[in-house]
Amino acid sequence: MVARVIPVDPFDLVIFGGTGDLARRKILPGLYRRFRDGQMPAEARMIGAARSDMTAEAYRELARSALEDHVAAERRDPETVARFLGQLGYVAIDVHGDKGWLDLADAMRPGHVQAFYFSVAPGLFGTLAEKLHDHKVAGPDARIVVEKPFGHDLGSARTLNATLAAHFDEHQIYRIDHYLGKETVQNLMAVRFANMLFEPLWNAQFVDHVQITVAETVGVGGRGSYYDGSGAMRDMVQNHIMQLLCLIAMEPPNRFEPDAVRDEKLKVIRALDPVAPGDIVRGQYVPTNGTPGYLEDAGNPDSRTESYVAMKVHVSNWRWKGTPFYLRTGKRLRARSSEIAVTFREPPHSIFGESERWAENVLIIRLQPNEGIKLKVMIKEPGPGGMRLVNVPLDMSFADALGEGGNDIPDAYERLIMDVIRGNQTLFMRGDEVDAAWAWTDPVIAAWQERGDRPVPYDAGTSGPEDALMLMHRDGRRWREIRP
Ligand code: NAD
Repeated sequence: MVARVIPVDPFDLVIFGGTGDLARRKILPGLYRRFRDGQMPAEARMIGAARSDMTAEAYRELARSALEDHVAAERRDPETVARFLGQLGYVAIDVHGDKGWLDLADAMRPGHVQAFYFSVAPGLFGTLAEKLHDHKVAGPDARIVVEKPFGHDLGSARTLNATLAAHFDEHQIYRIDHYLGKETVQNLMAVRFANMLFEPLWNAQFVDHVQITVAETVGVGGRGSYYDGSGAMRDMVQNHIMQLLCLIAMEPPNRFEPDAVRDEKLKVIRALDPVAPGDIVRGQYVPTNGTPGYLEDAGNPDSRTESYVAMKVHVSNWRWKGTPFYLRTGKRLRARSSEIAVTFREPPHSIFGESERWAENVLIIRLQPNEGIKLKVMIKEPGPGGMRLVNVPLDMSFADALGEGGNDIPDAYERLIMDVIRGNQTLFMRGDEVDAAWAWTDPVIAAWQERGDRPVPYDAGTSGPEDALMLMHRDGRRWREIRP
């Protein structure tokens, strides 16, 4: 099956921070792939903007080398690359300065979609919004794309929201959470709301519990000092894991439209109970077999920042009363693996006798690596010898199910950037969602800061601290294995 590509309207996209890591690794390669697939009209223009004083030609060379590093060779025929680079420009602008804005304003073409990607440090967002306005660069319908982290706590997120709101309406602001751009995450909504099979069972009566895992093998490495001021709760739970939780727990929106979806997500966040201190485990990786520990990576020998967190949370509403959600995320774990697992309750009675062990029905939504959805069901073990049951997966790996097209699943960023151009905010966080997520996260962090808790140690290459295993064991459940 070959994916249908619907071209977007002509646009001017300005990438502030166009020479940075995110631009080189994700934004430029993503734009190229959309270009190559024929989704971008010939009139589309992309303009890098950053502090470096370089010519447009030099910027095209930077982009060429970014494509060489991050796009597979078989997708980079010289003619297509040259045409793509031909649509790229560059303007040197220091966000704090006054030079370059006029050039940029001149370059914007009236009548085209205008988008400004804020791929710069969050400390610059406010000034950037102001300057775009003061120098009359952004037209009345311009869109801005804002990267994470969106604030450090409730207060800073509110300040940032207010600063952006002074110059742009909510419908112009696209807050990126790239987890929402993943194919499987959107498929989760398709599975829930385009089938009759699951939704009737999607509640506390039939779902025993839900596990959400985002496991990484990398340590904090190069971003040690940034991460040390943040930790797993702020860096992963408040945004990515919260968004996944919302999509699992939300009521069906009446339409797949931005505010209908976001209203339902917001209700989930507001329905979250405060987390009991005994329901959270914080961990920090220690030196293991020659790999440095967190303290060394973070460059802070006294750090109490968590590189791992596991917790049990409750969504306090009719649908979910009695079904816990277990969340965990951490660095330097056994494997890189992100998945959501919805475990259904056991059938009420075994007609096959007590000797037949019941295995659970589990719906596994795998985000990375190998995006796909799997449903574990019980069947009879093949062959003679009576009725013995086995638990087998019904597997839908996208690469297999979609044939050639499935091997070429668009990266989250490229999908989201095209949504910005289309003016579709469904997969972007609204200001009140971010606000509510911080309002839930802040007291958790404040409580452990007050107690002065130290995170518990765990070895690199494991599944995290023992205490996290206990968090589930004491409820008679266990975590799924973290597997690549
Ligand atoms: P980076 O440090 O690699 O690049 C920063 C860019 O901003 C450079 O192009 C630099 O020239 C430009 N810049 C810095 N100061 C400037 C100024 N005063 N005026 C104009 N331009 C200026 O950073 P990055 O890793 O590309 O991250 C960019 C943003 O994306 C940050 O908000 C970051 O939190 C976010 N983000 C990055 C990643 C990632 O994987 N790199 C992931 C998620 C979010």
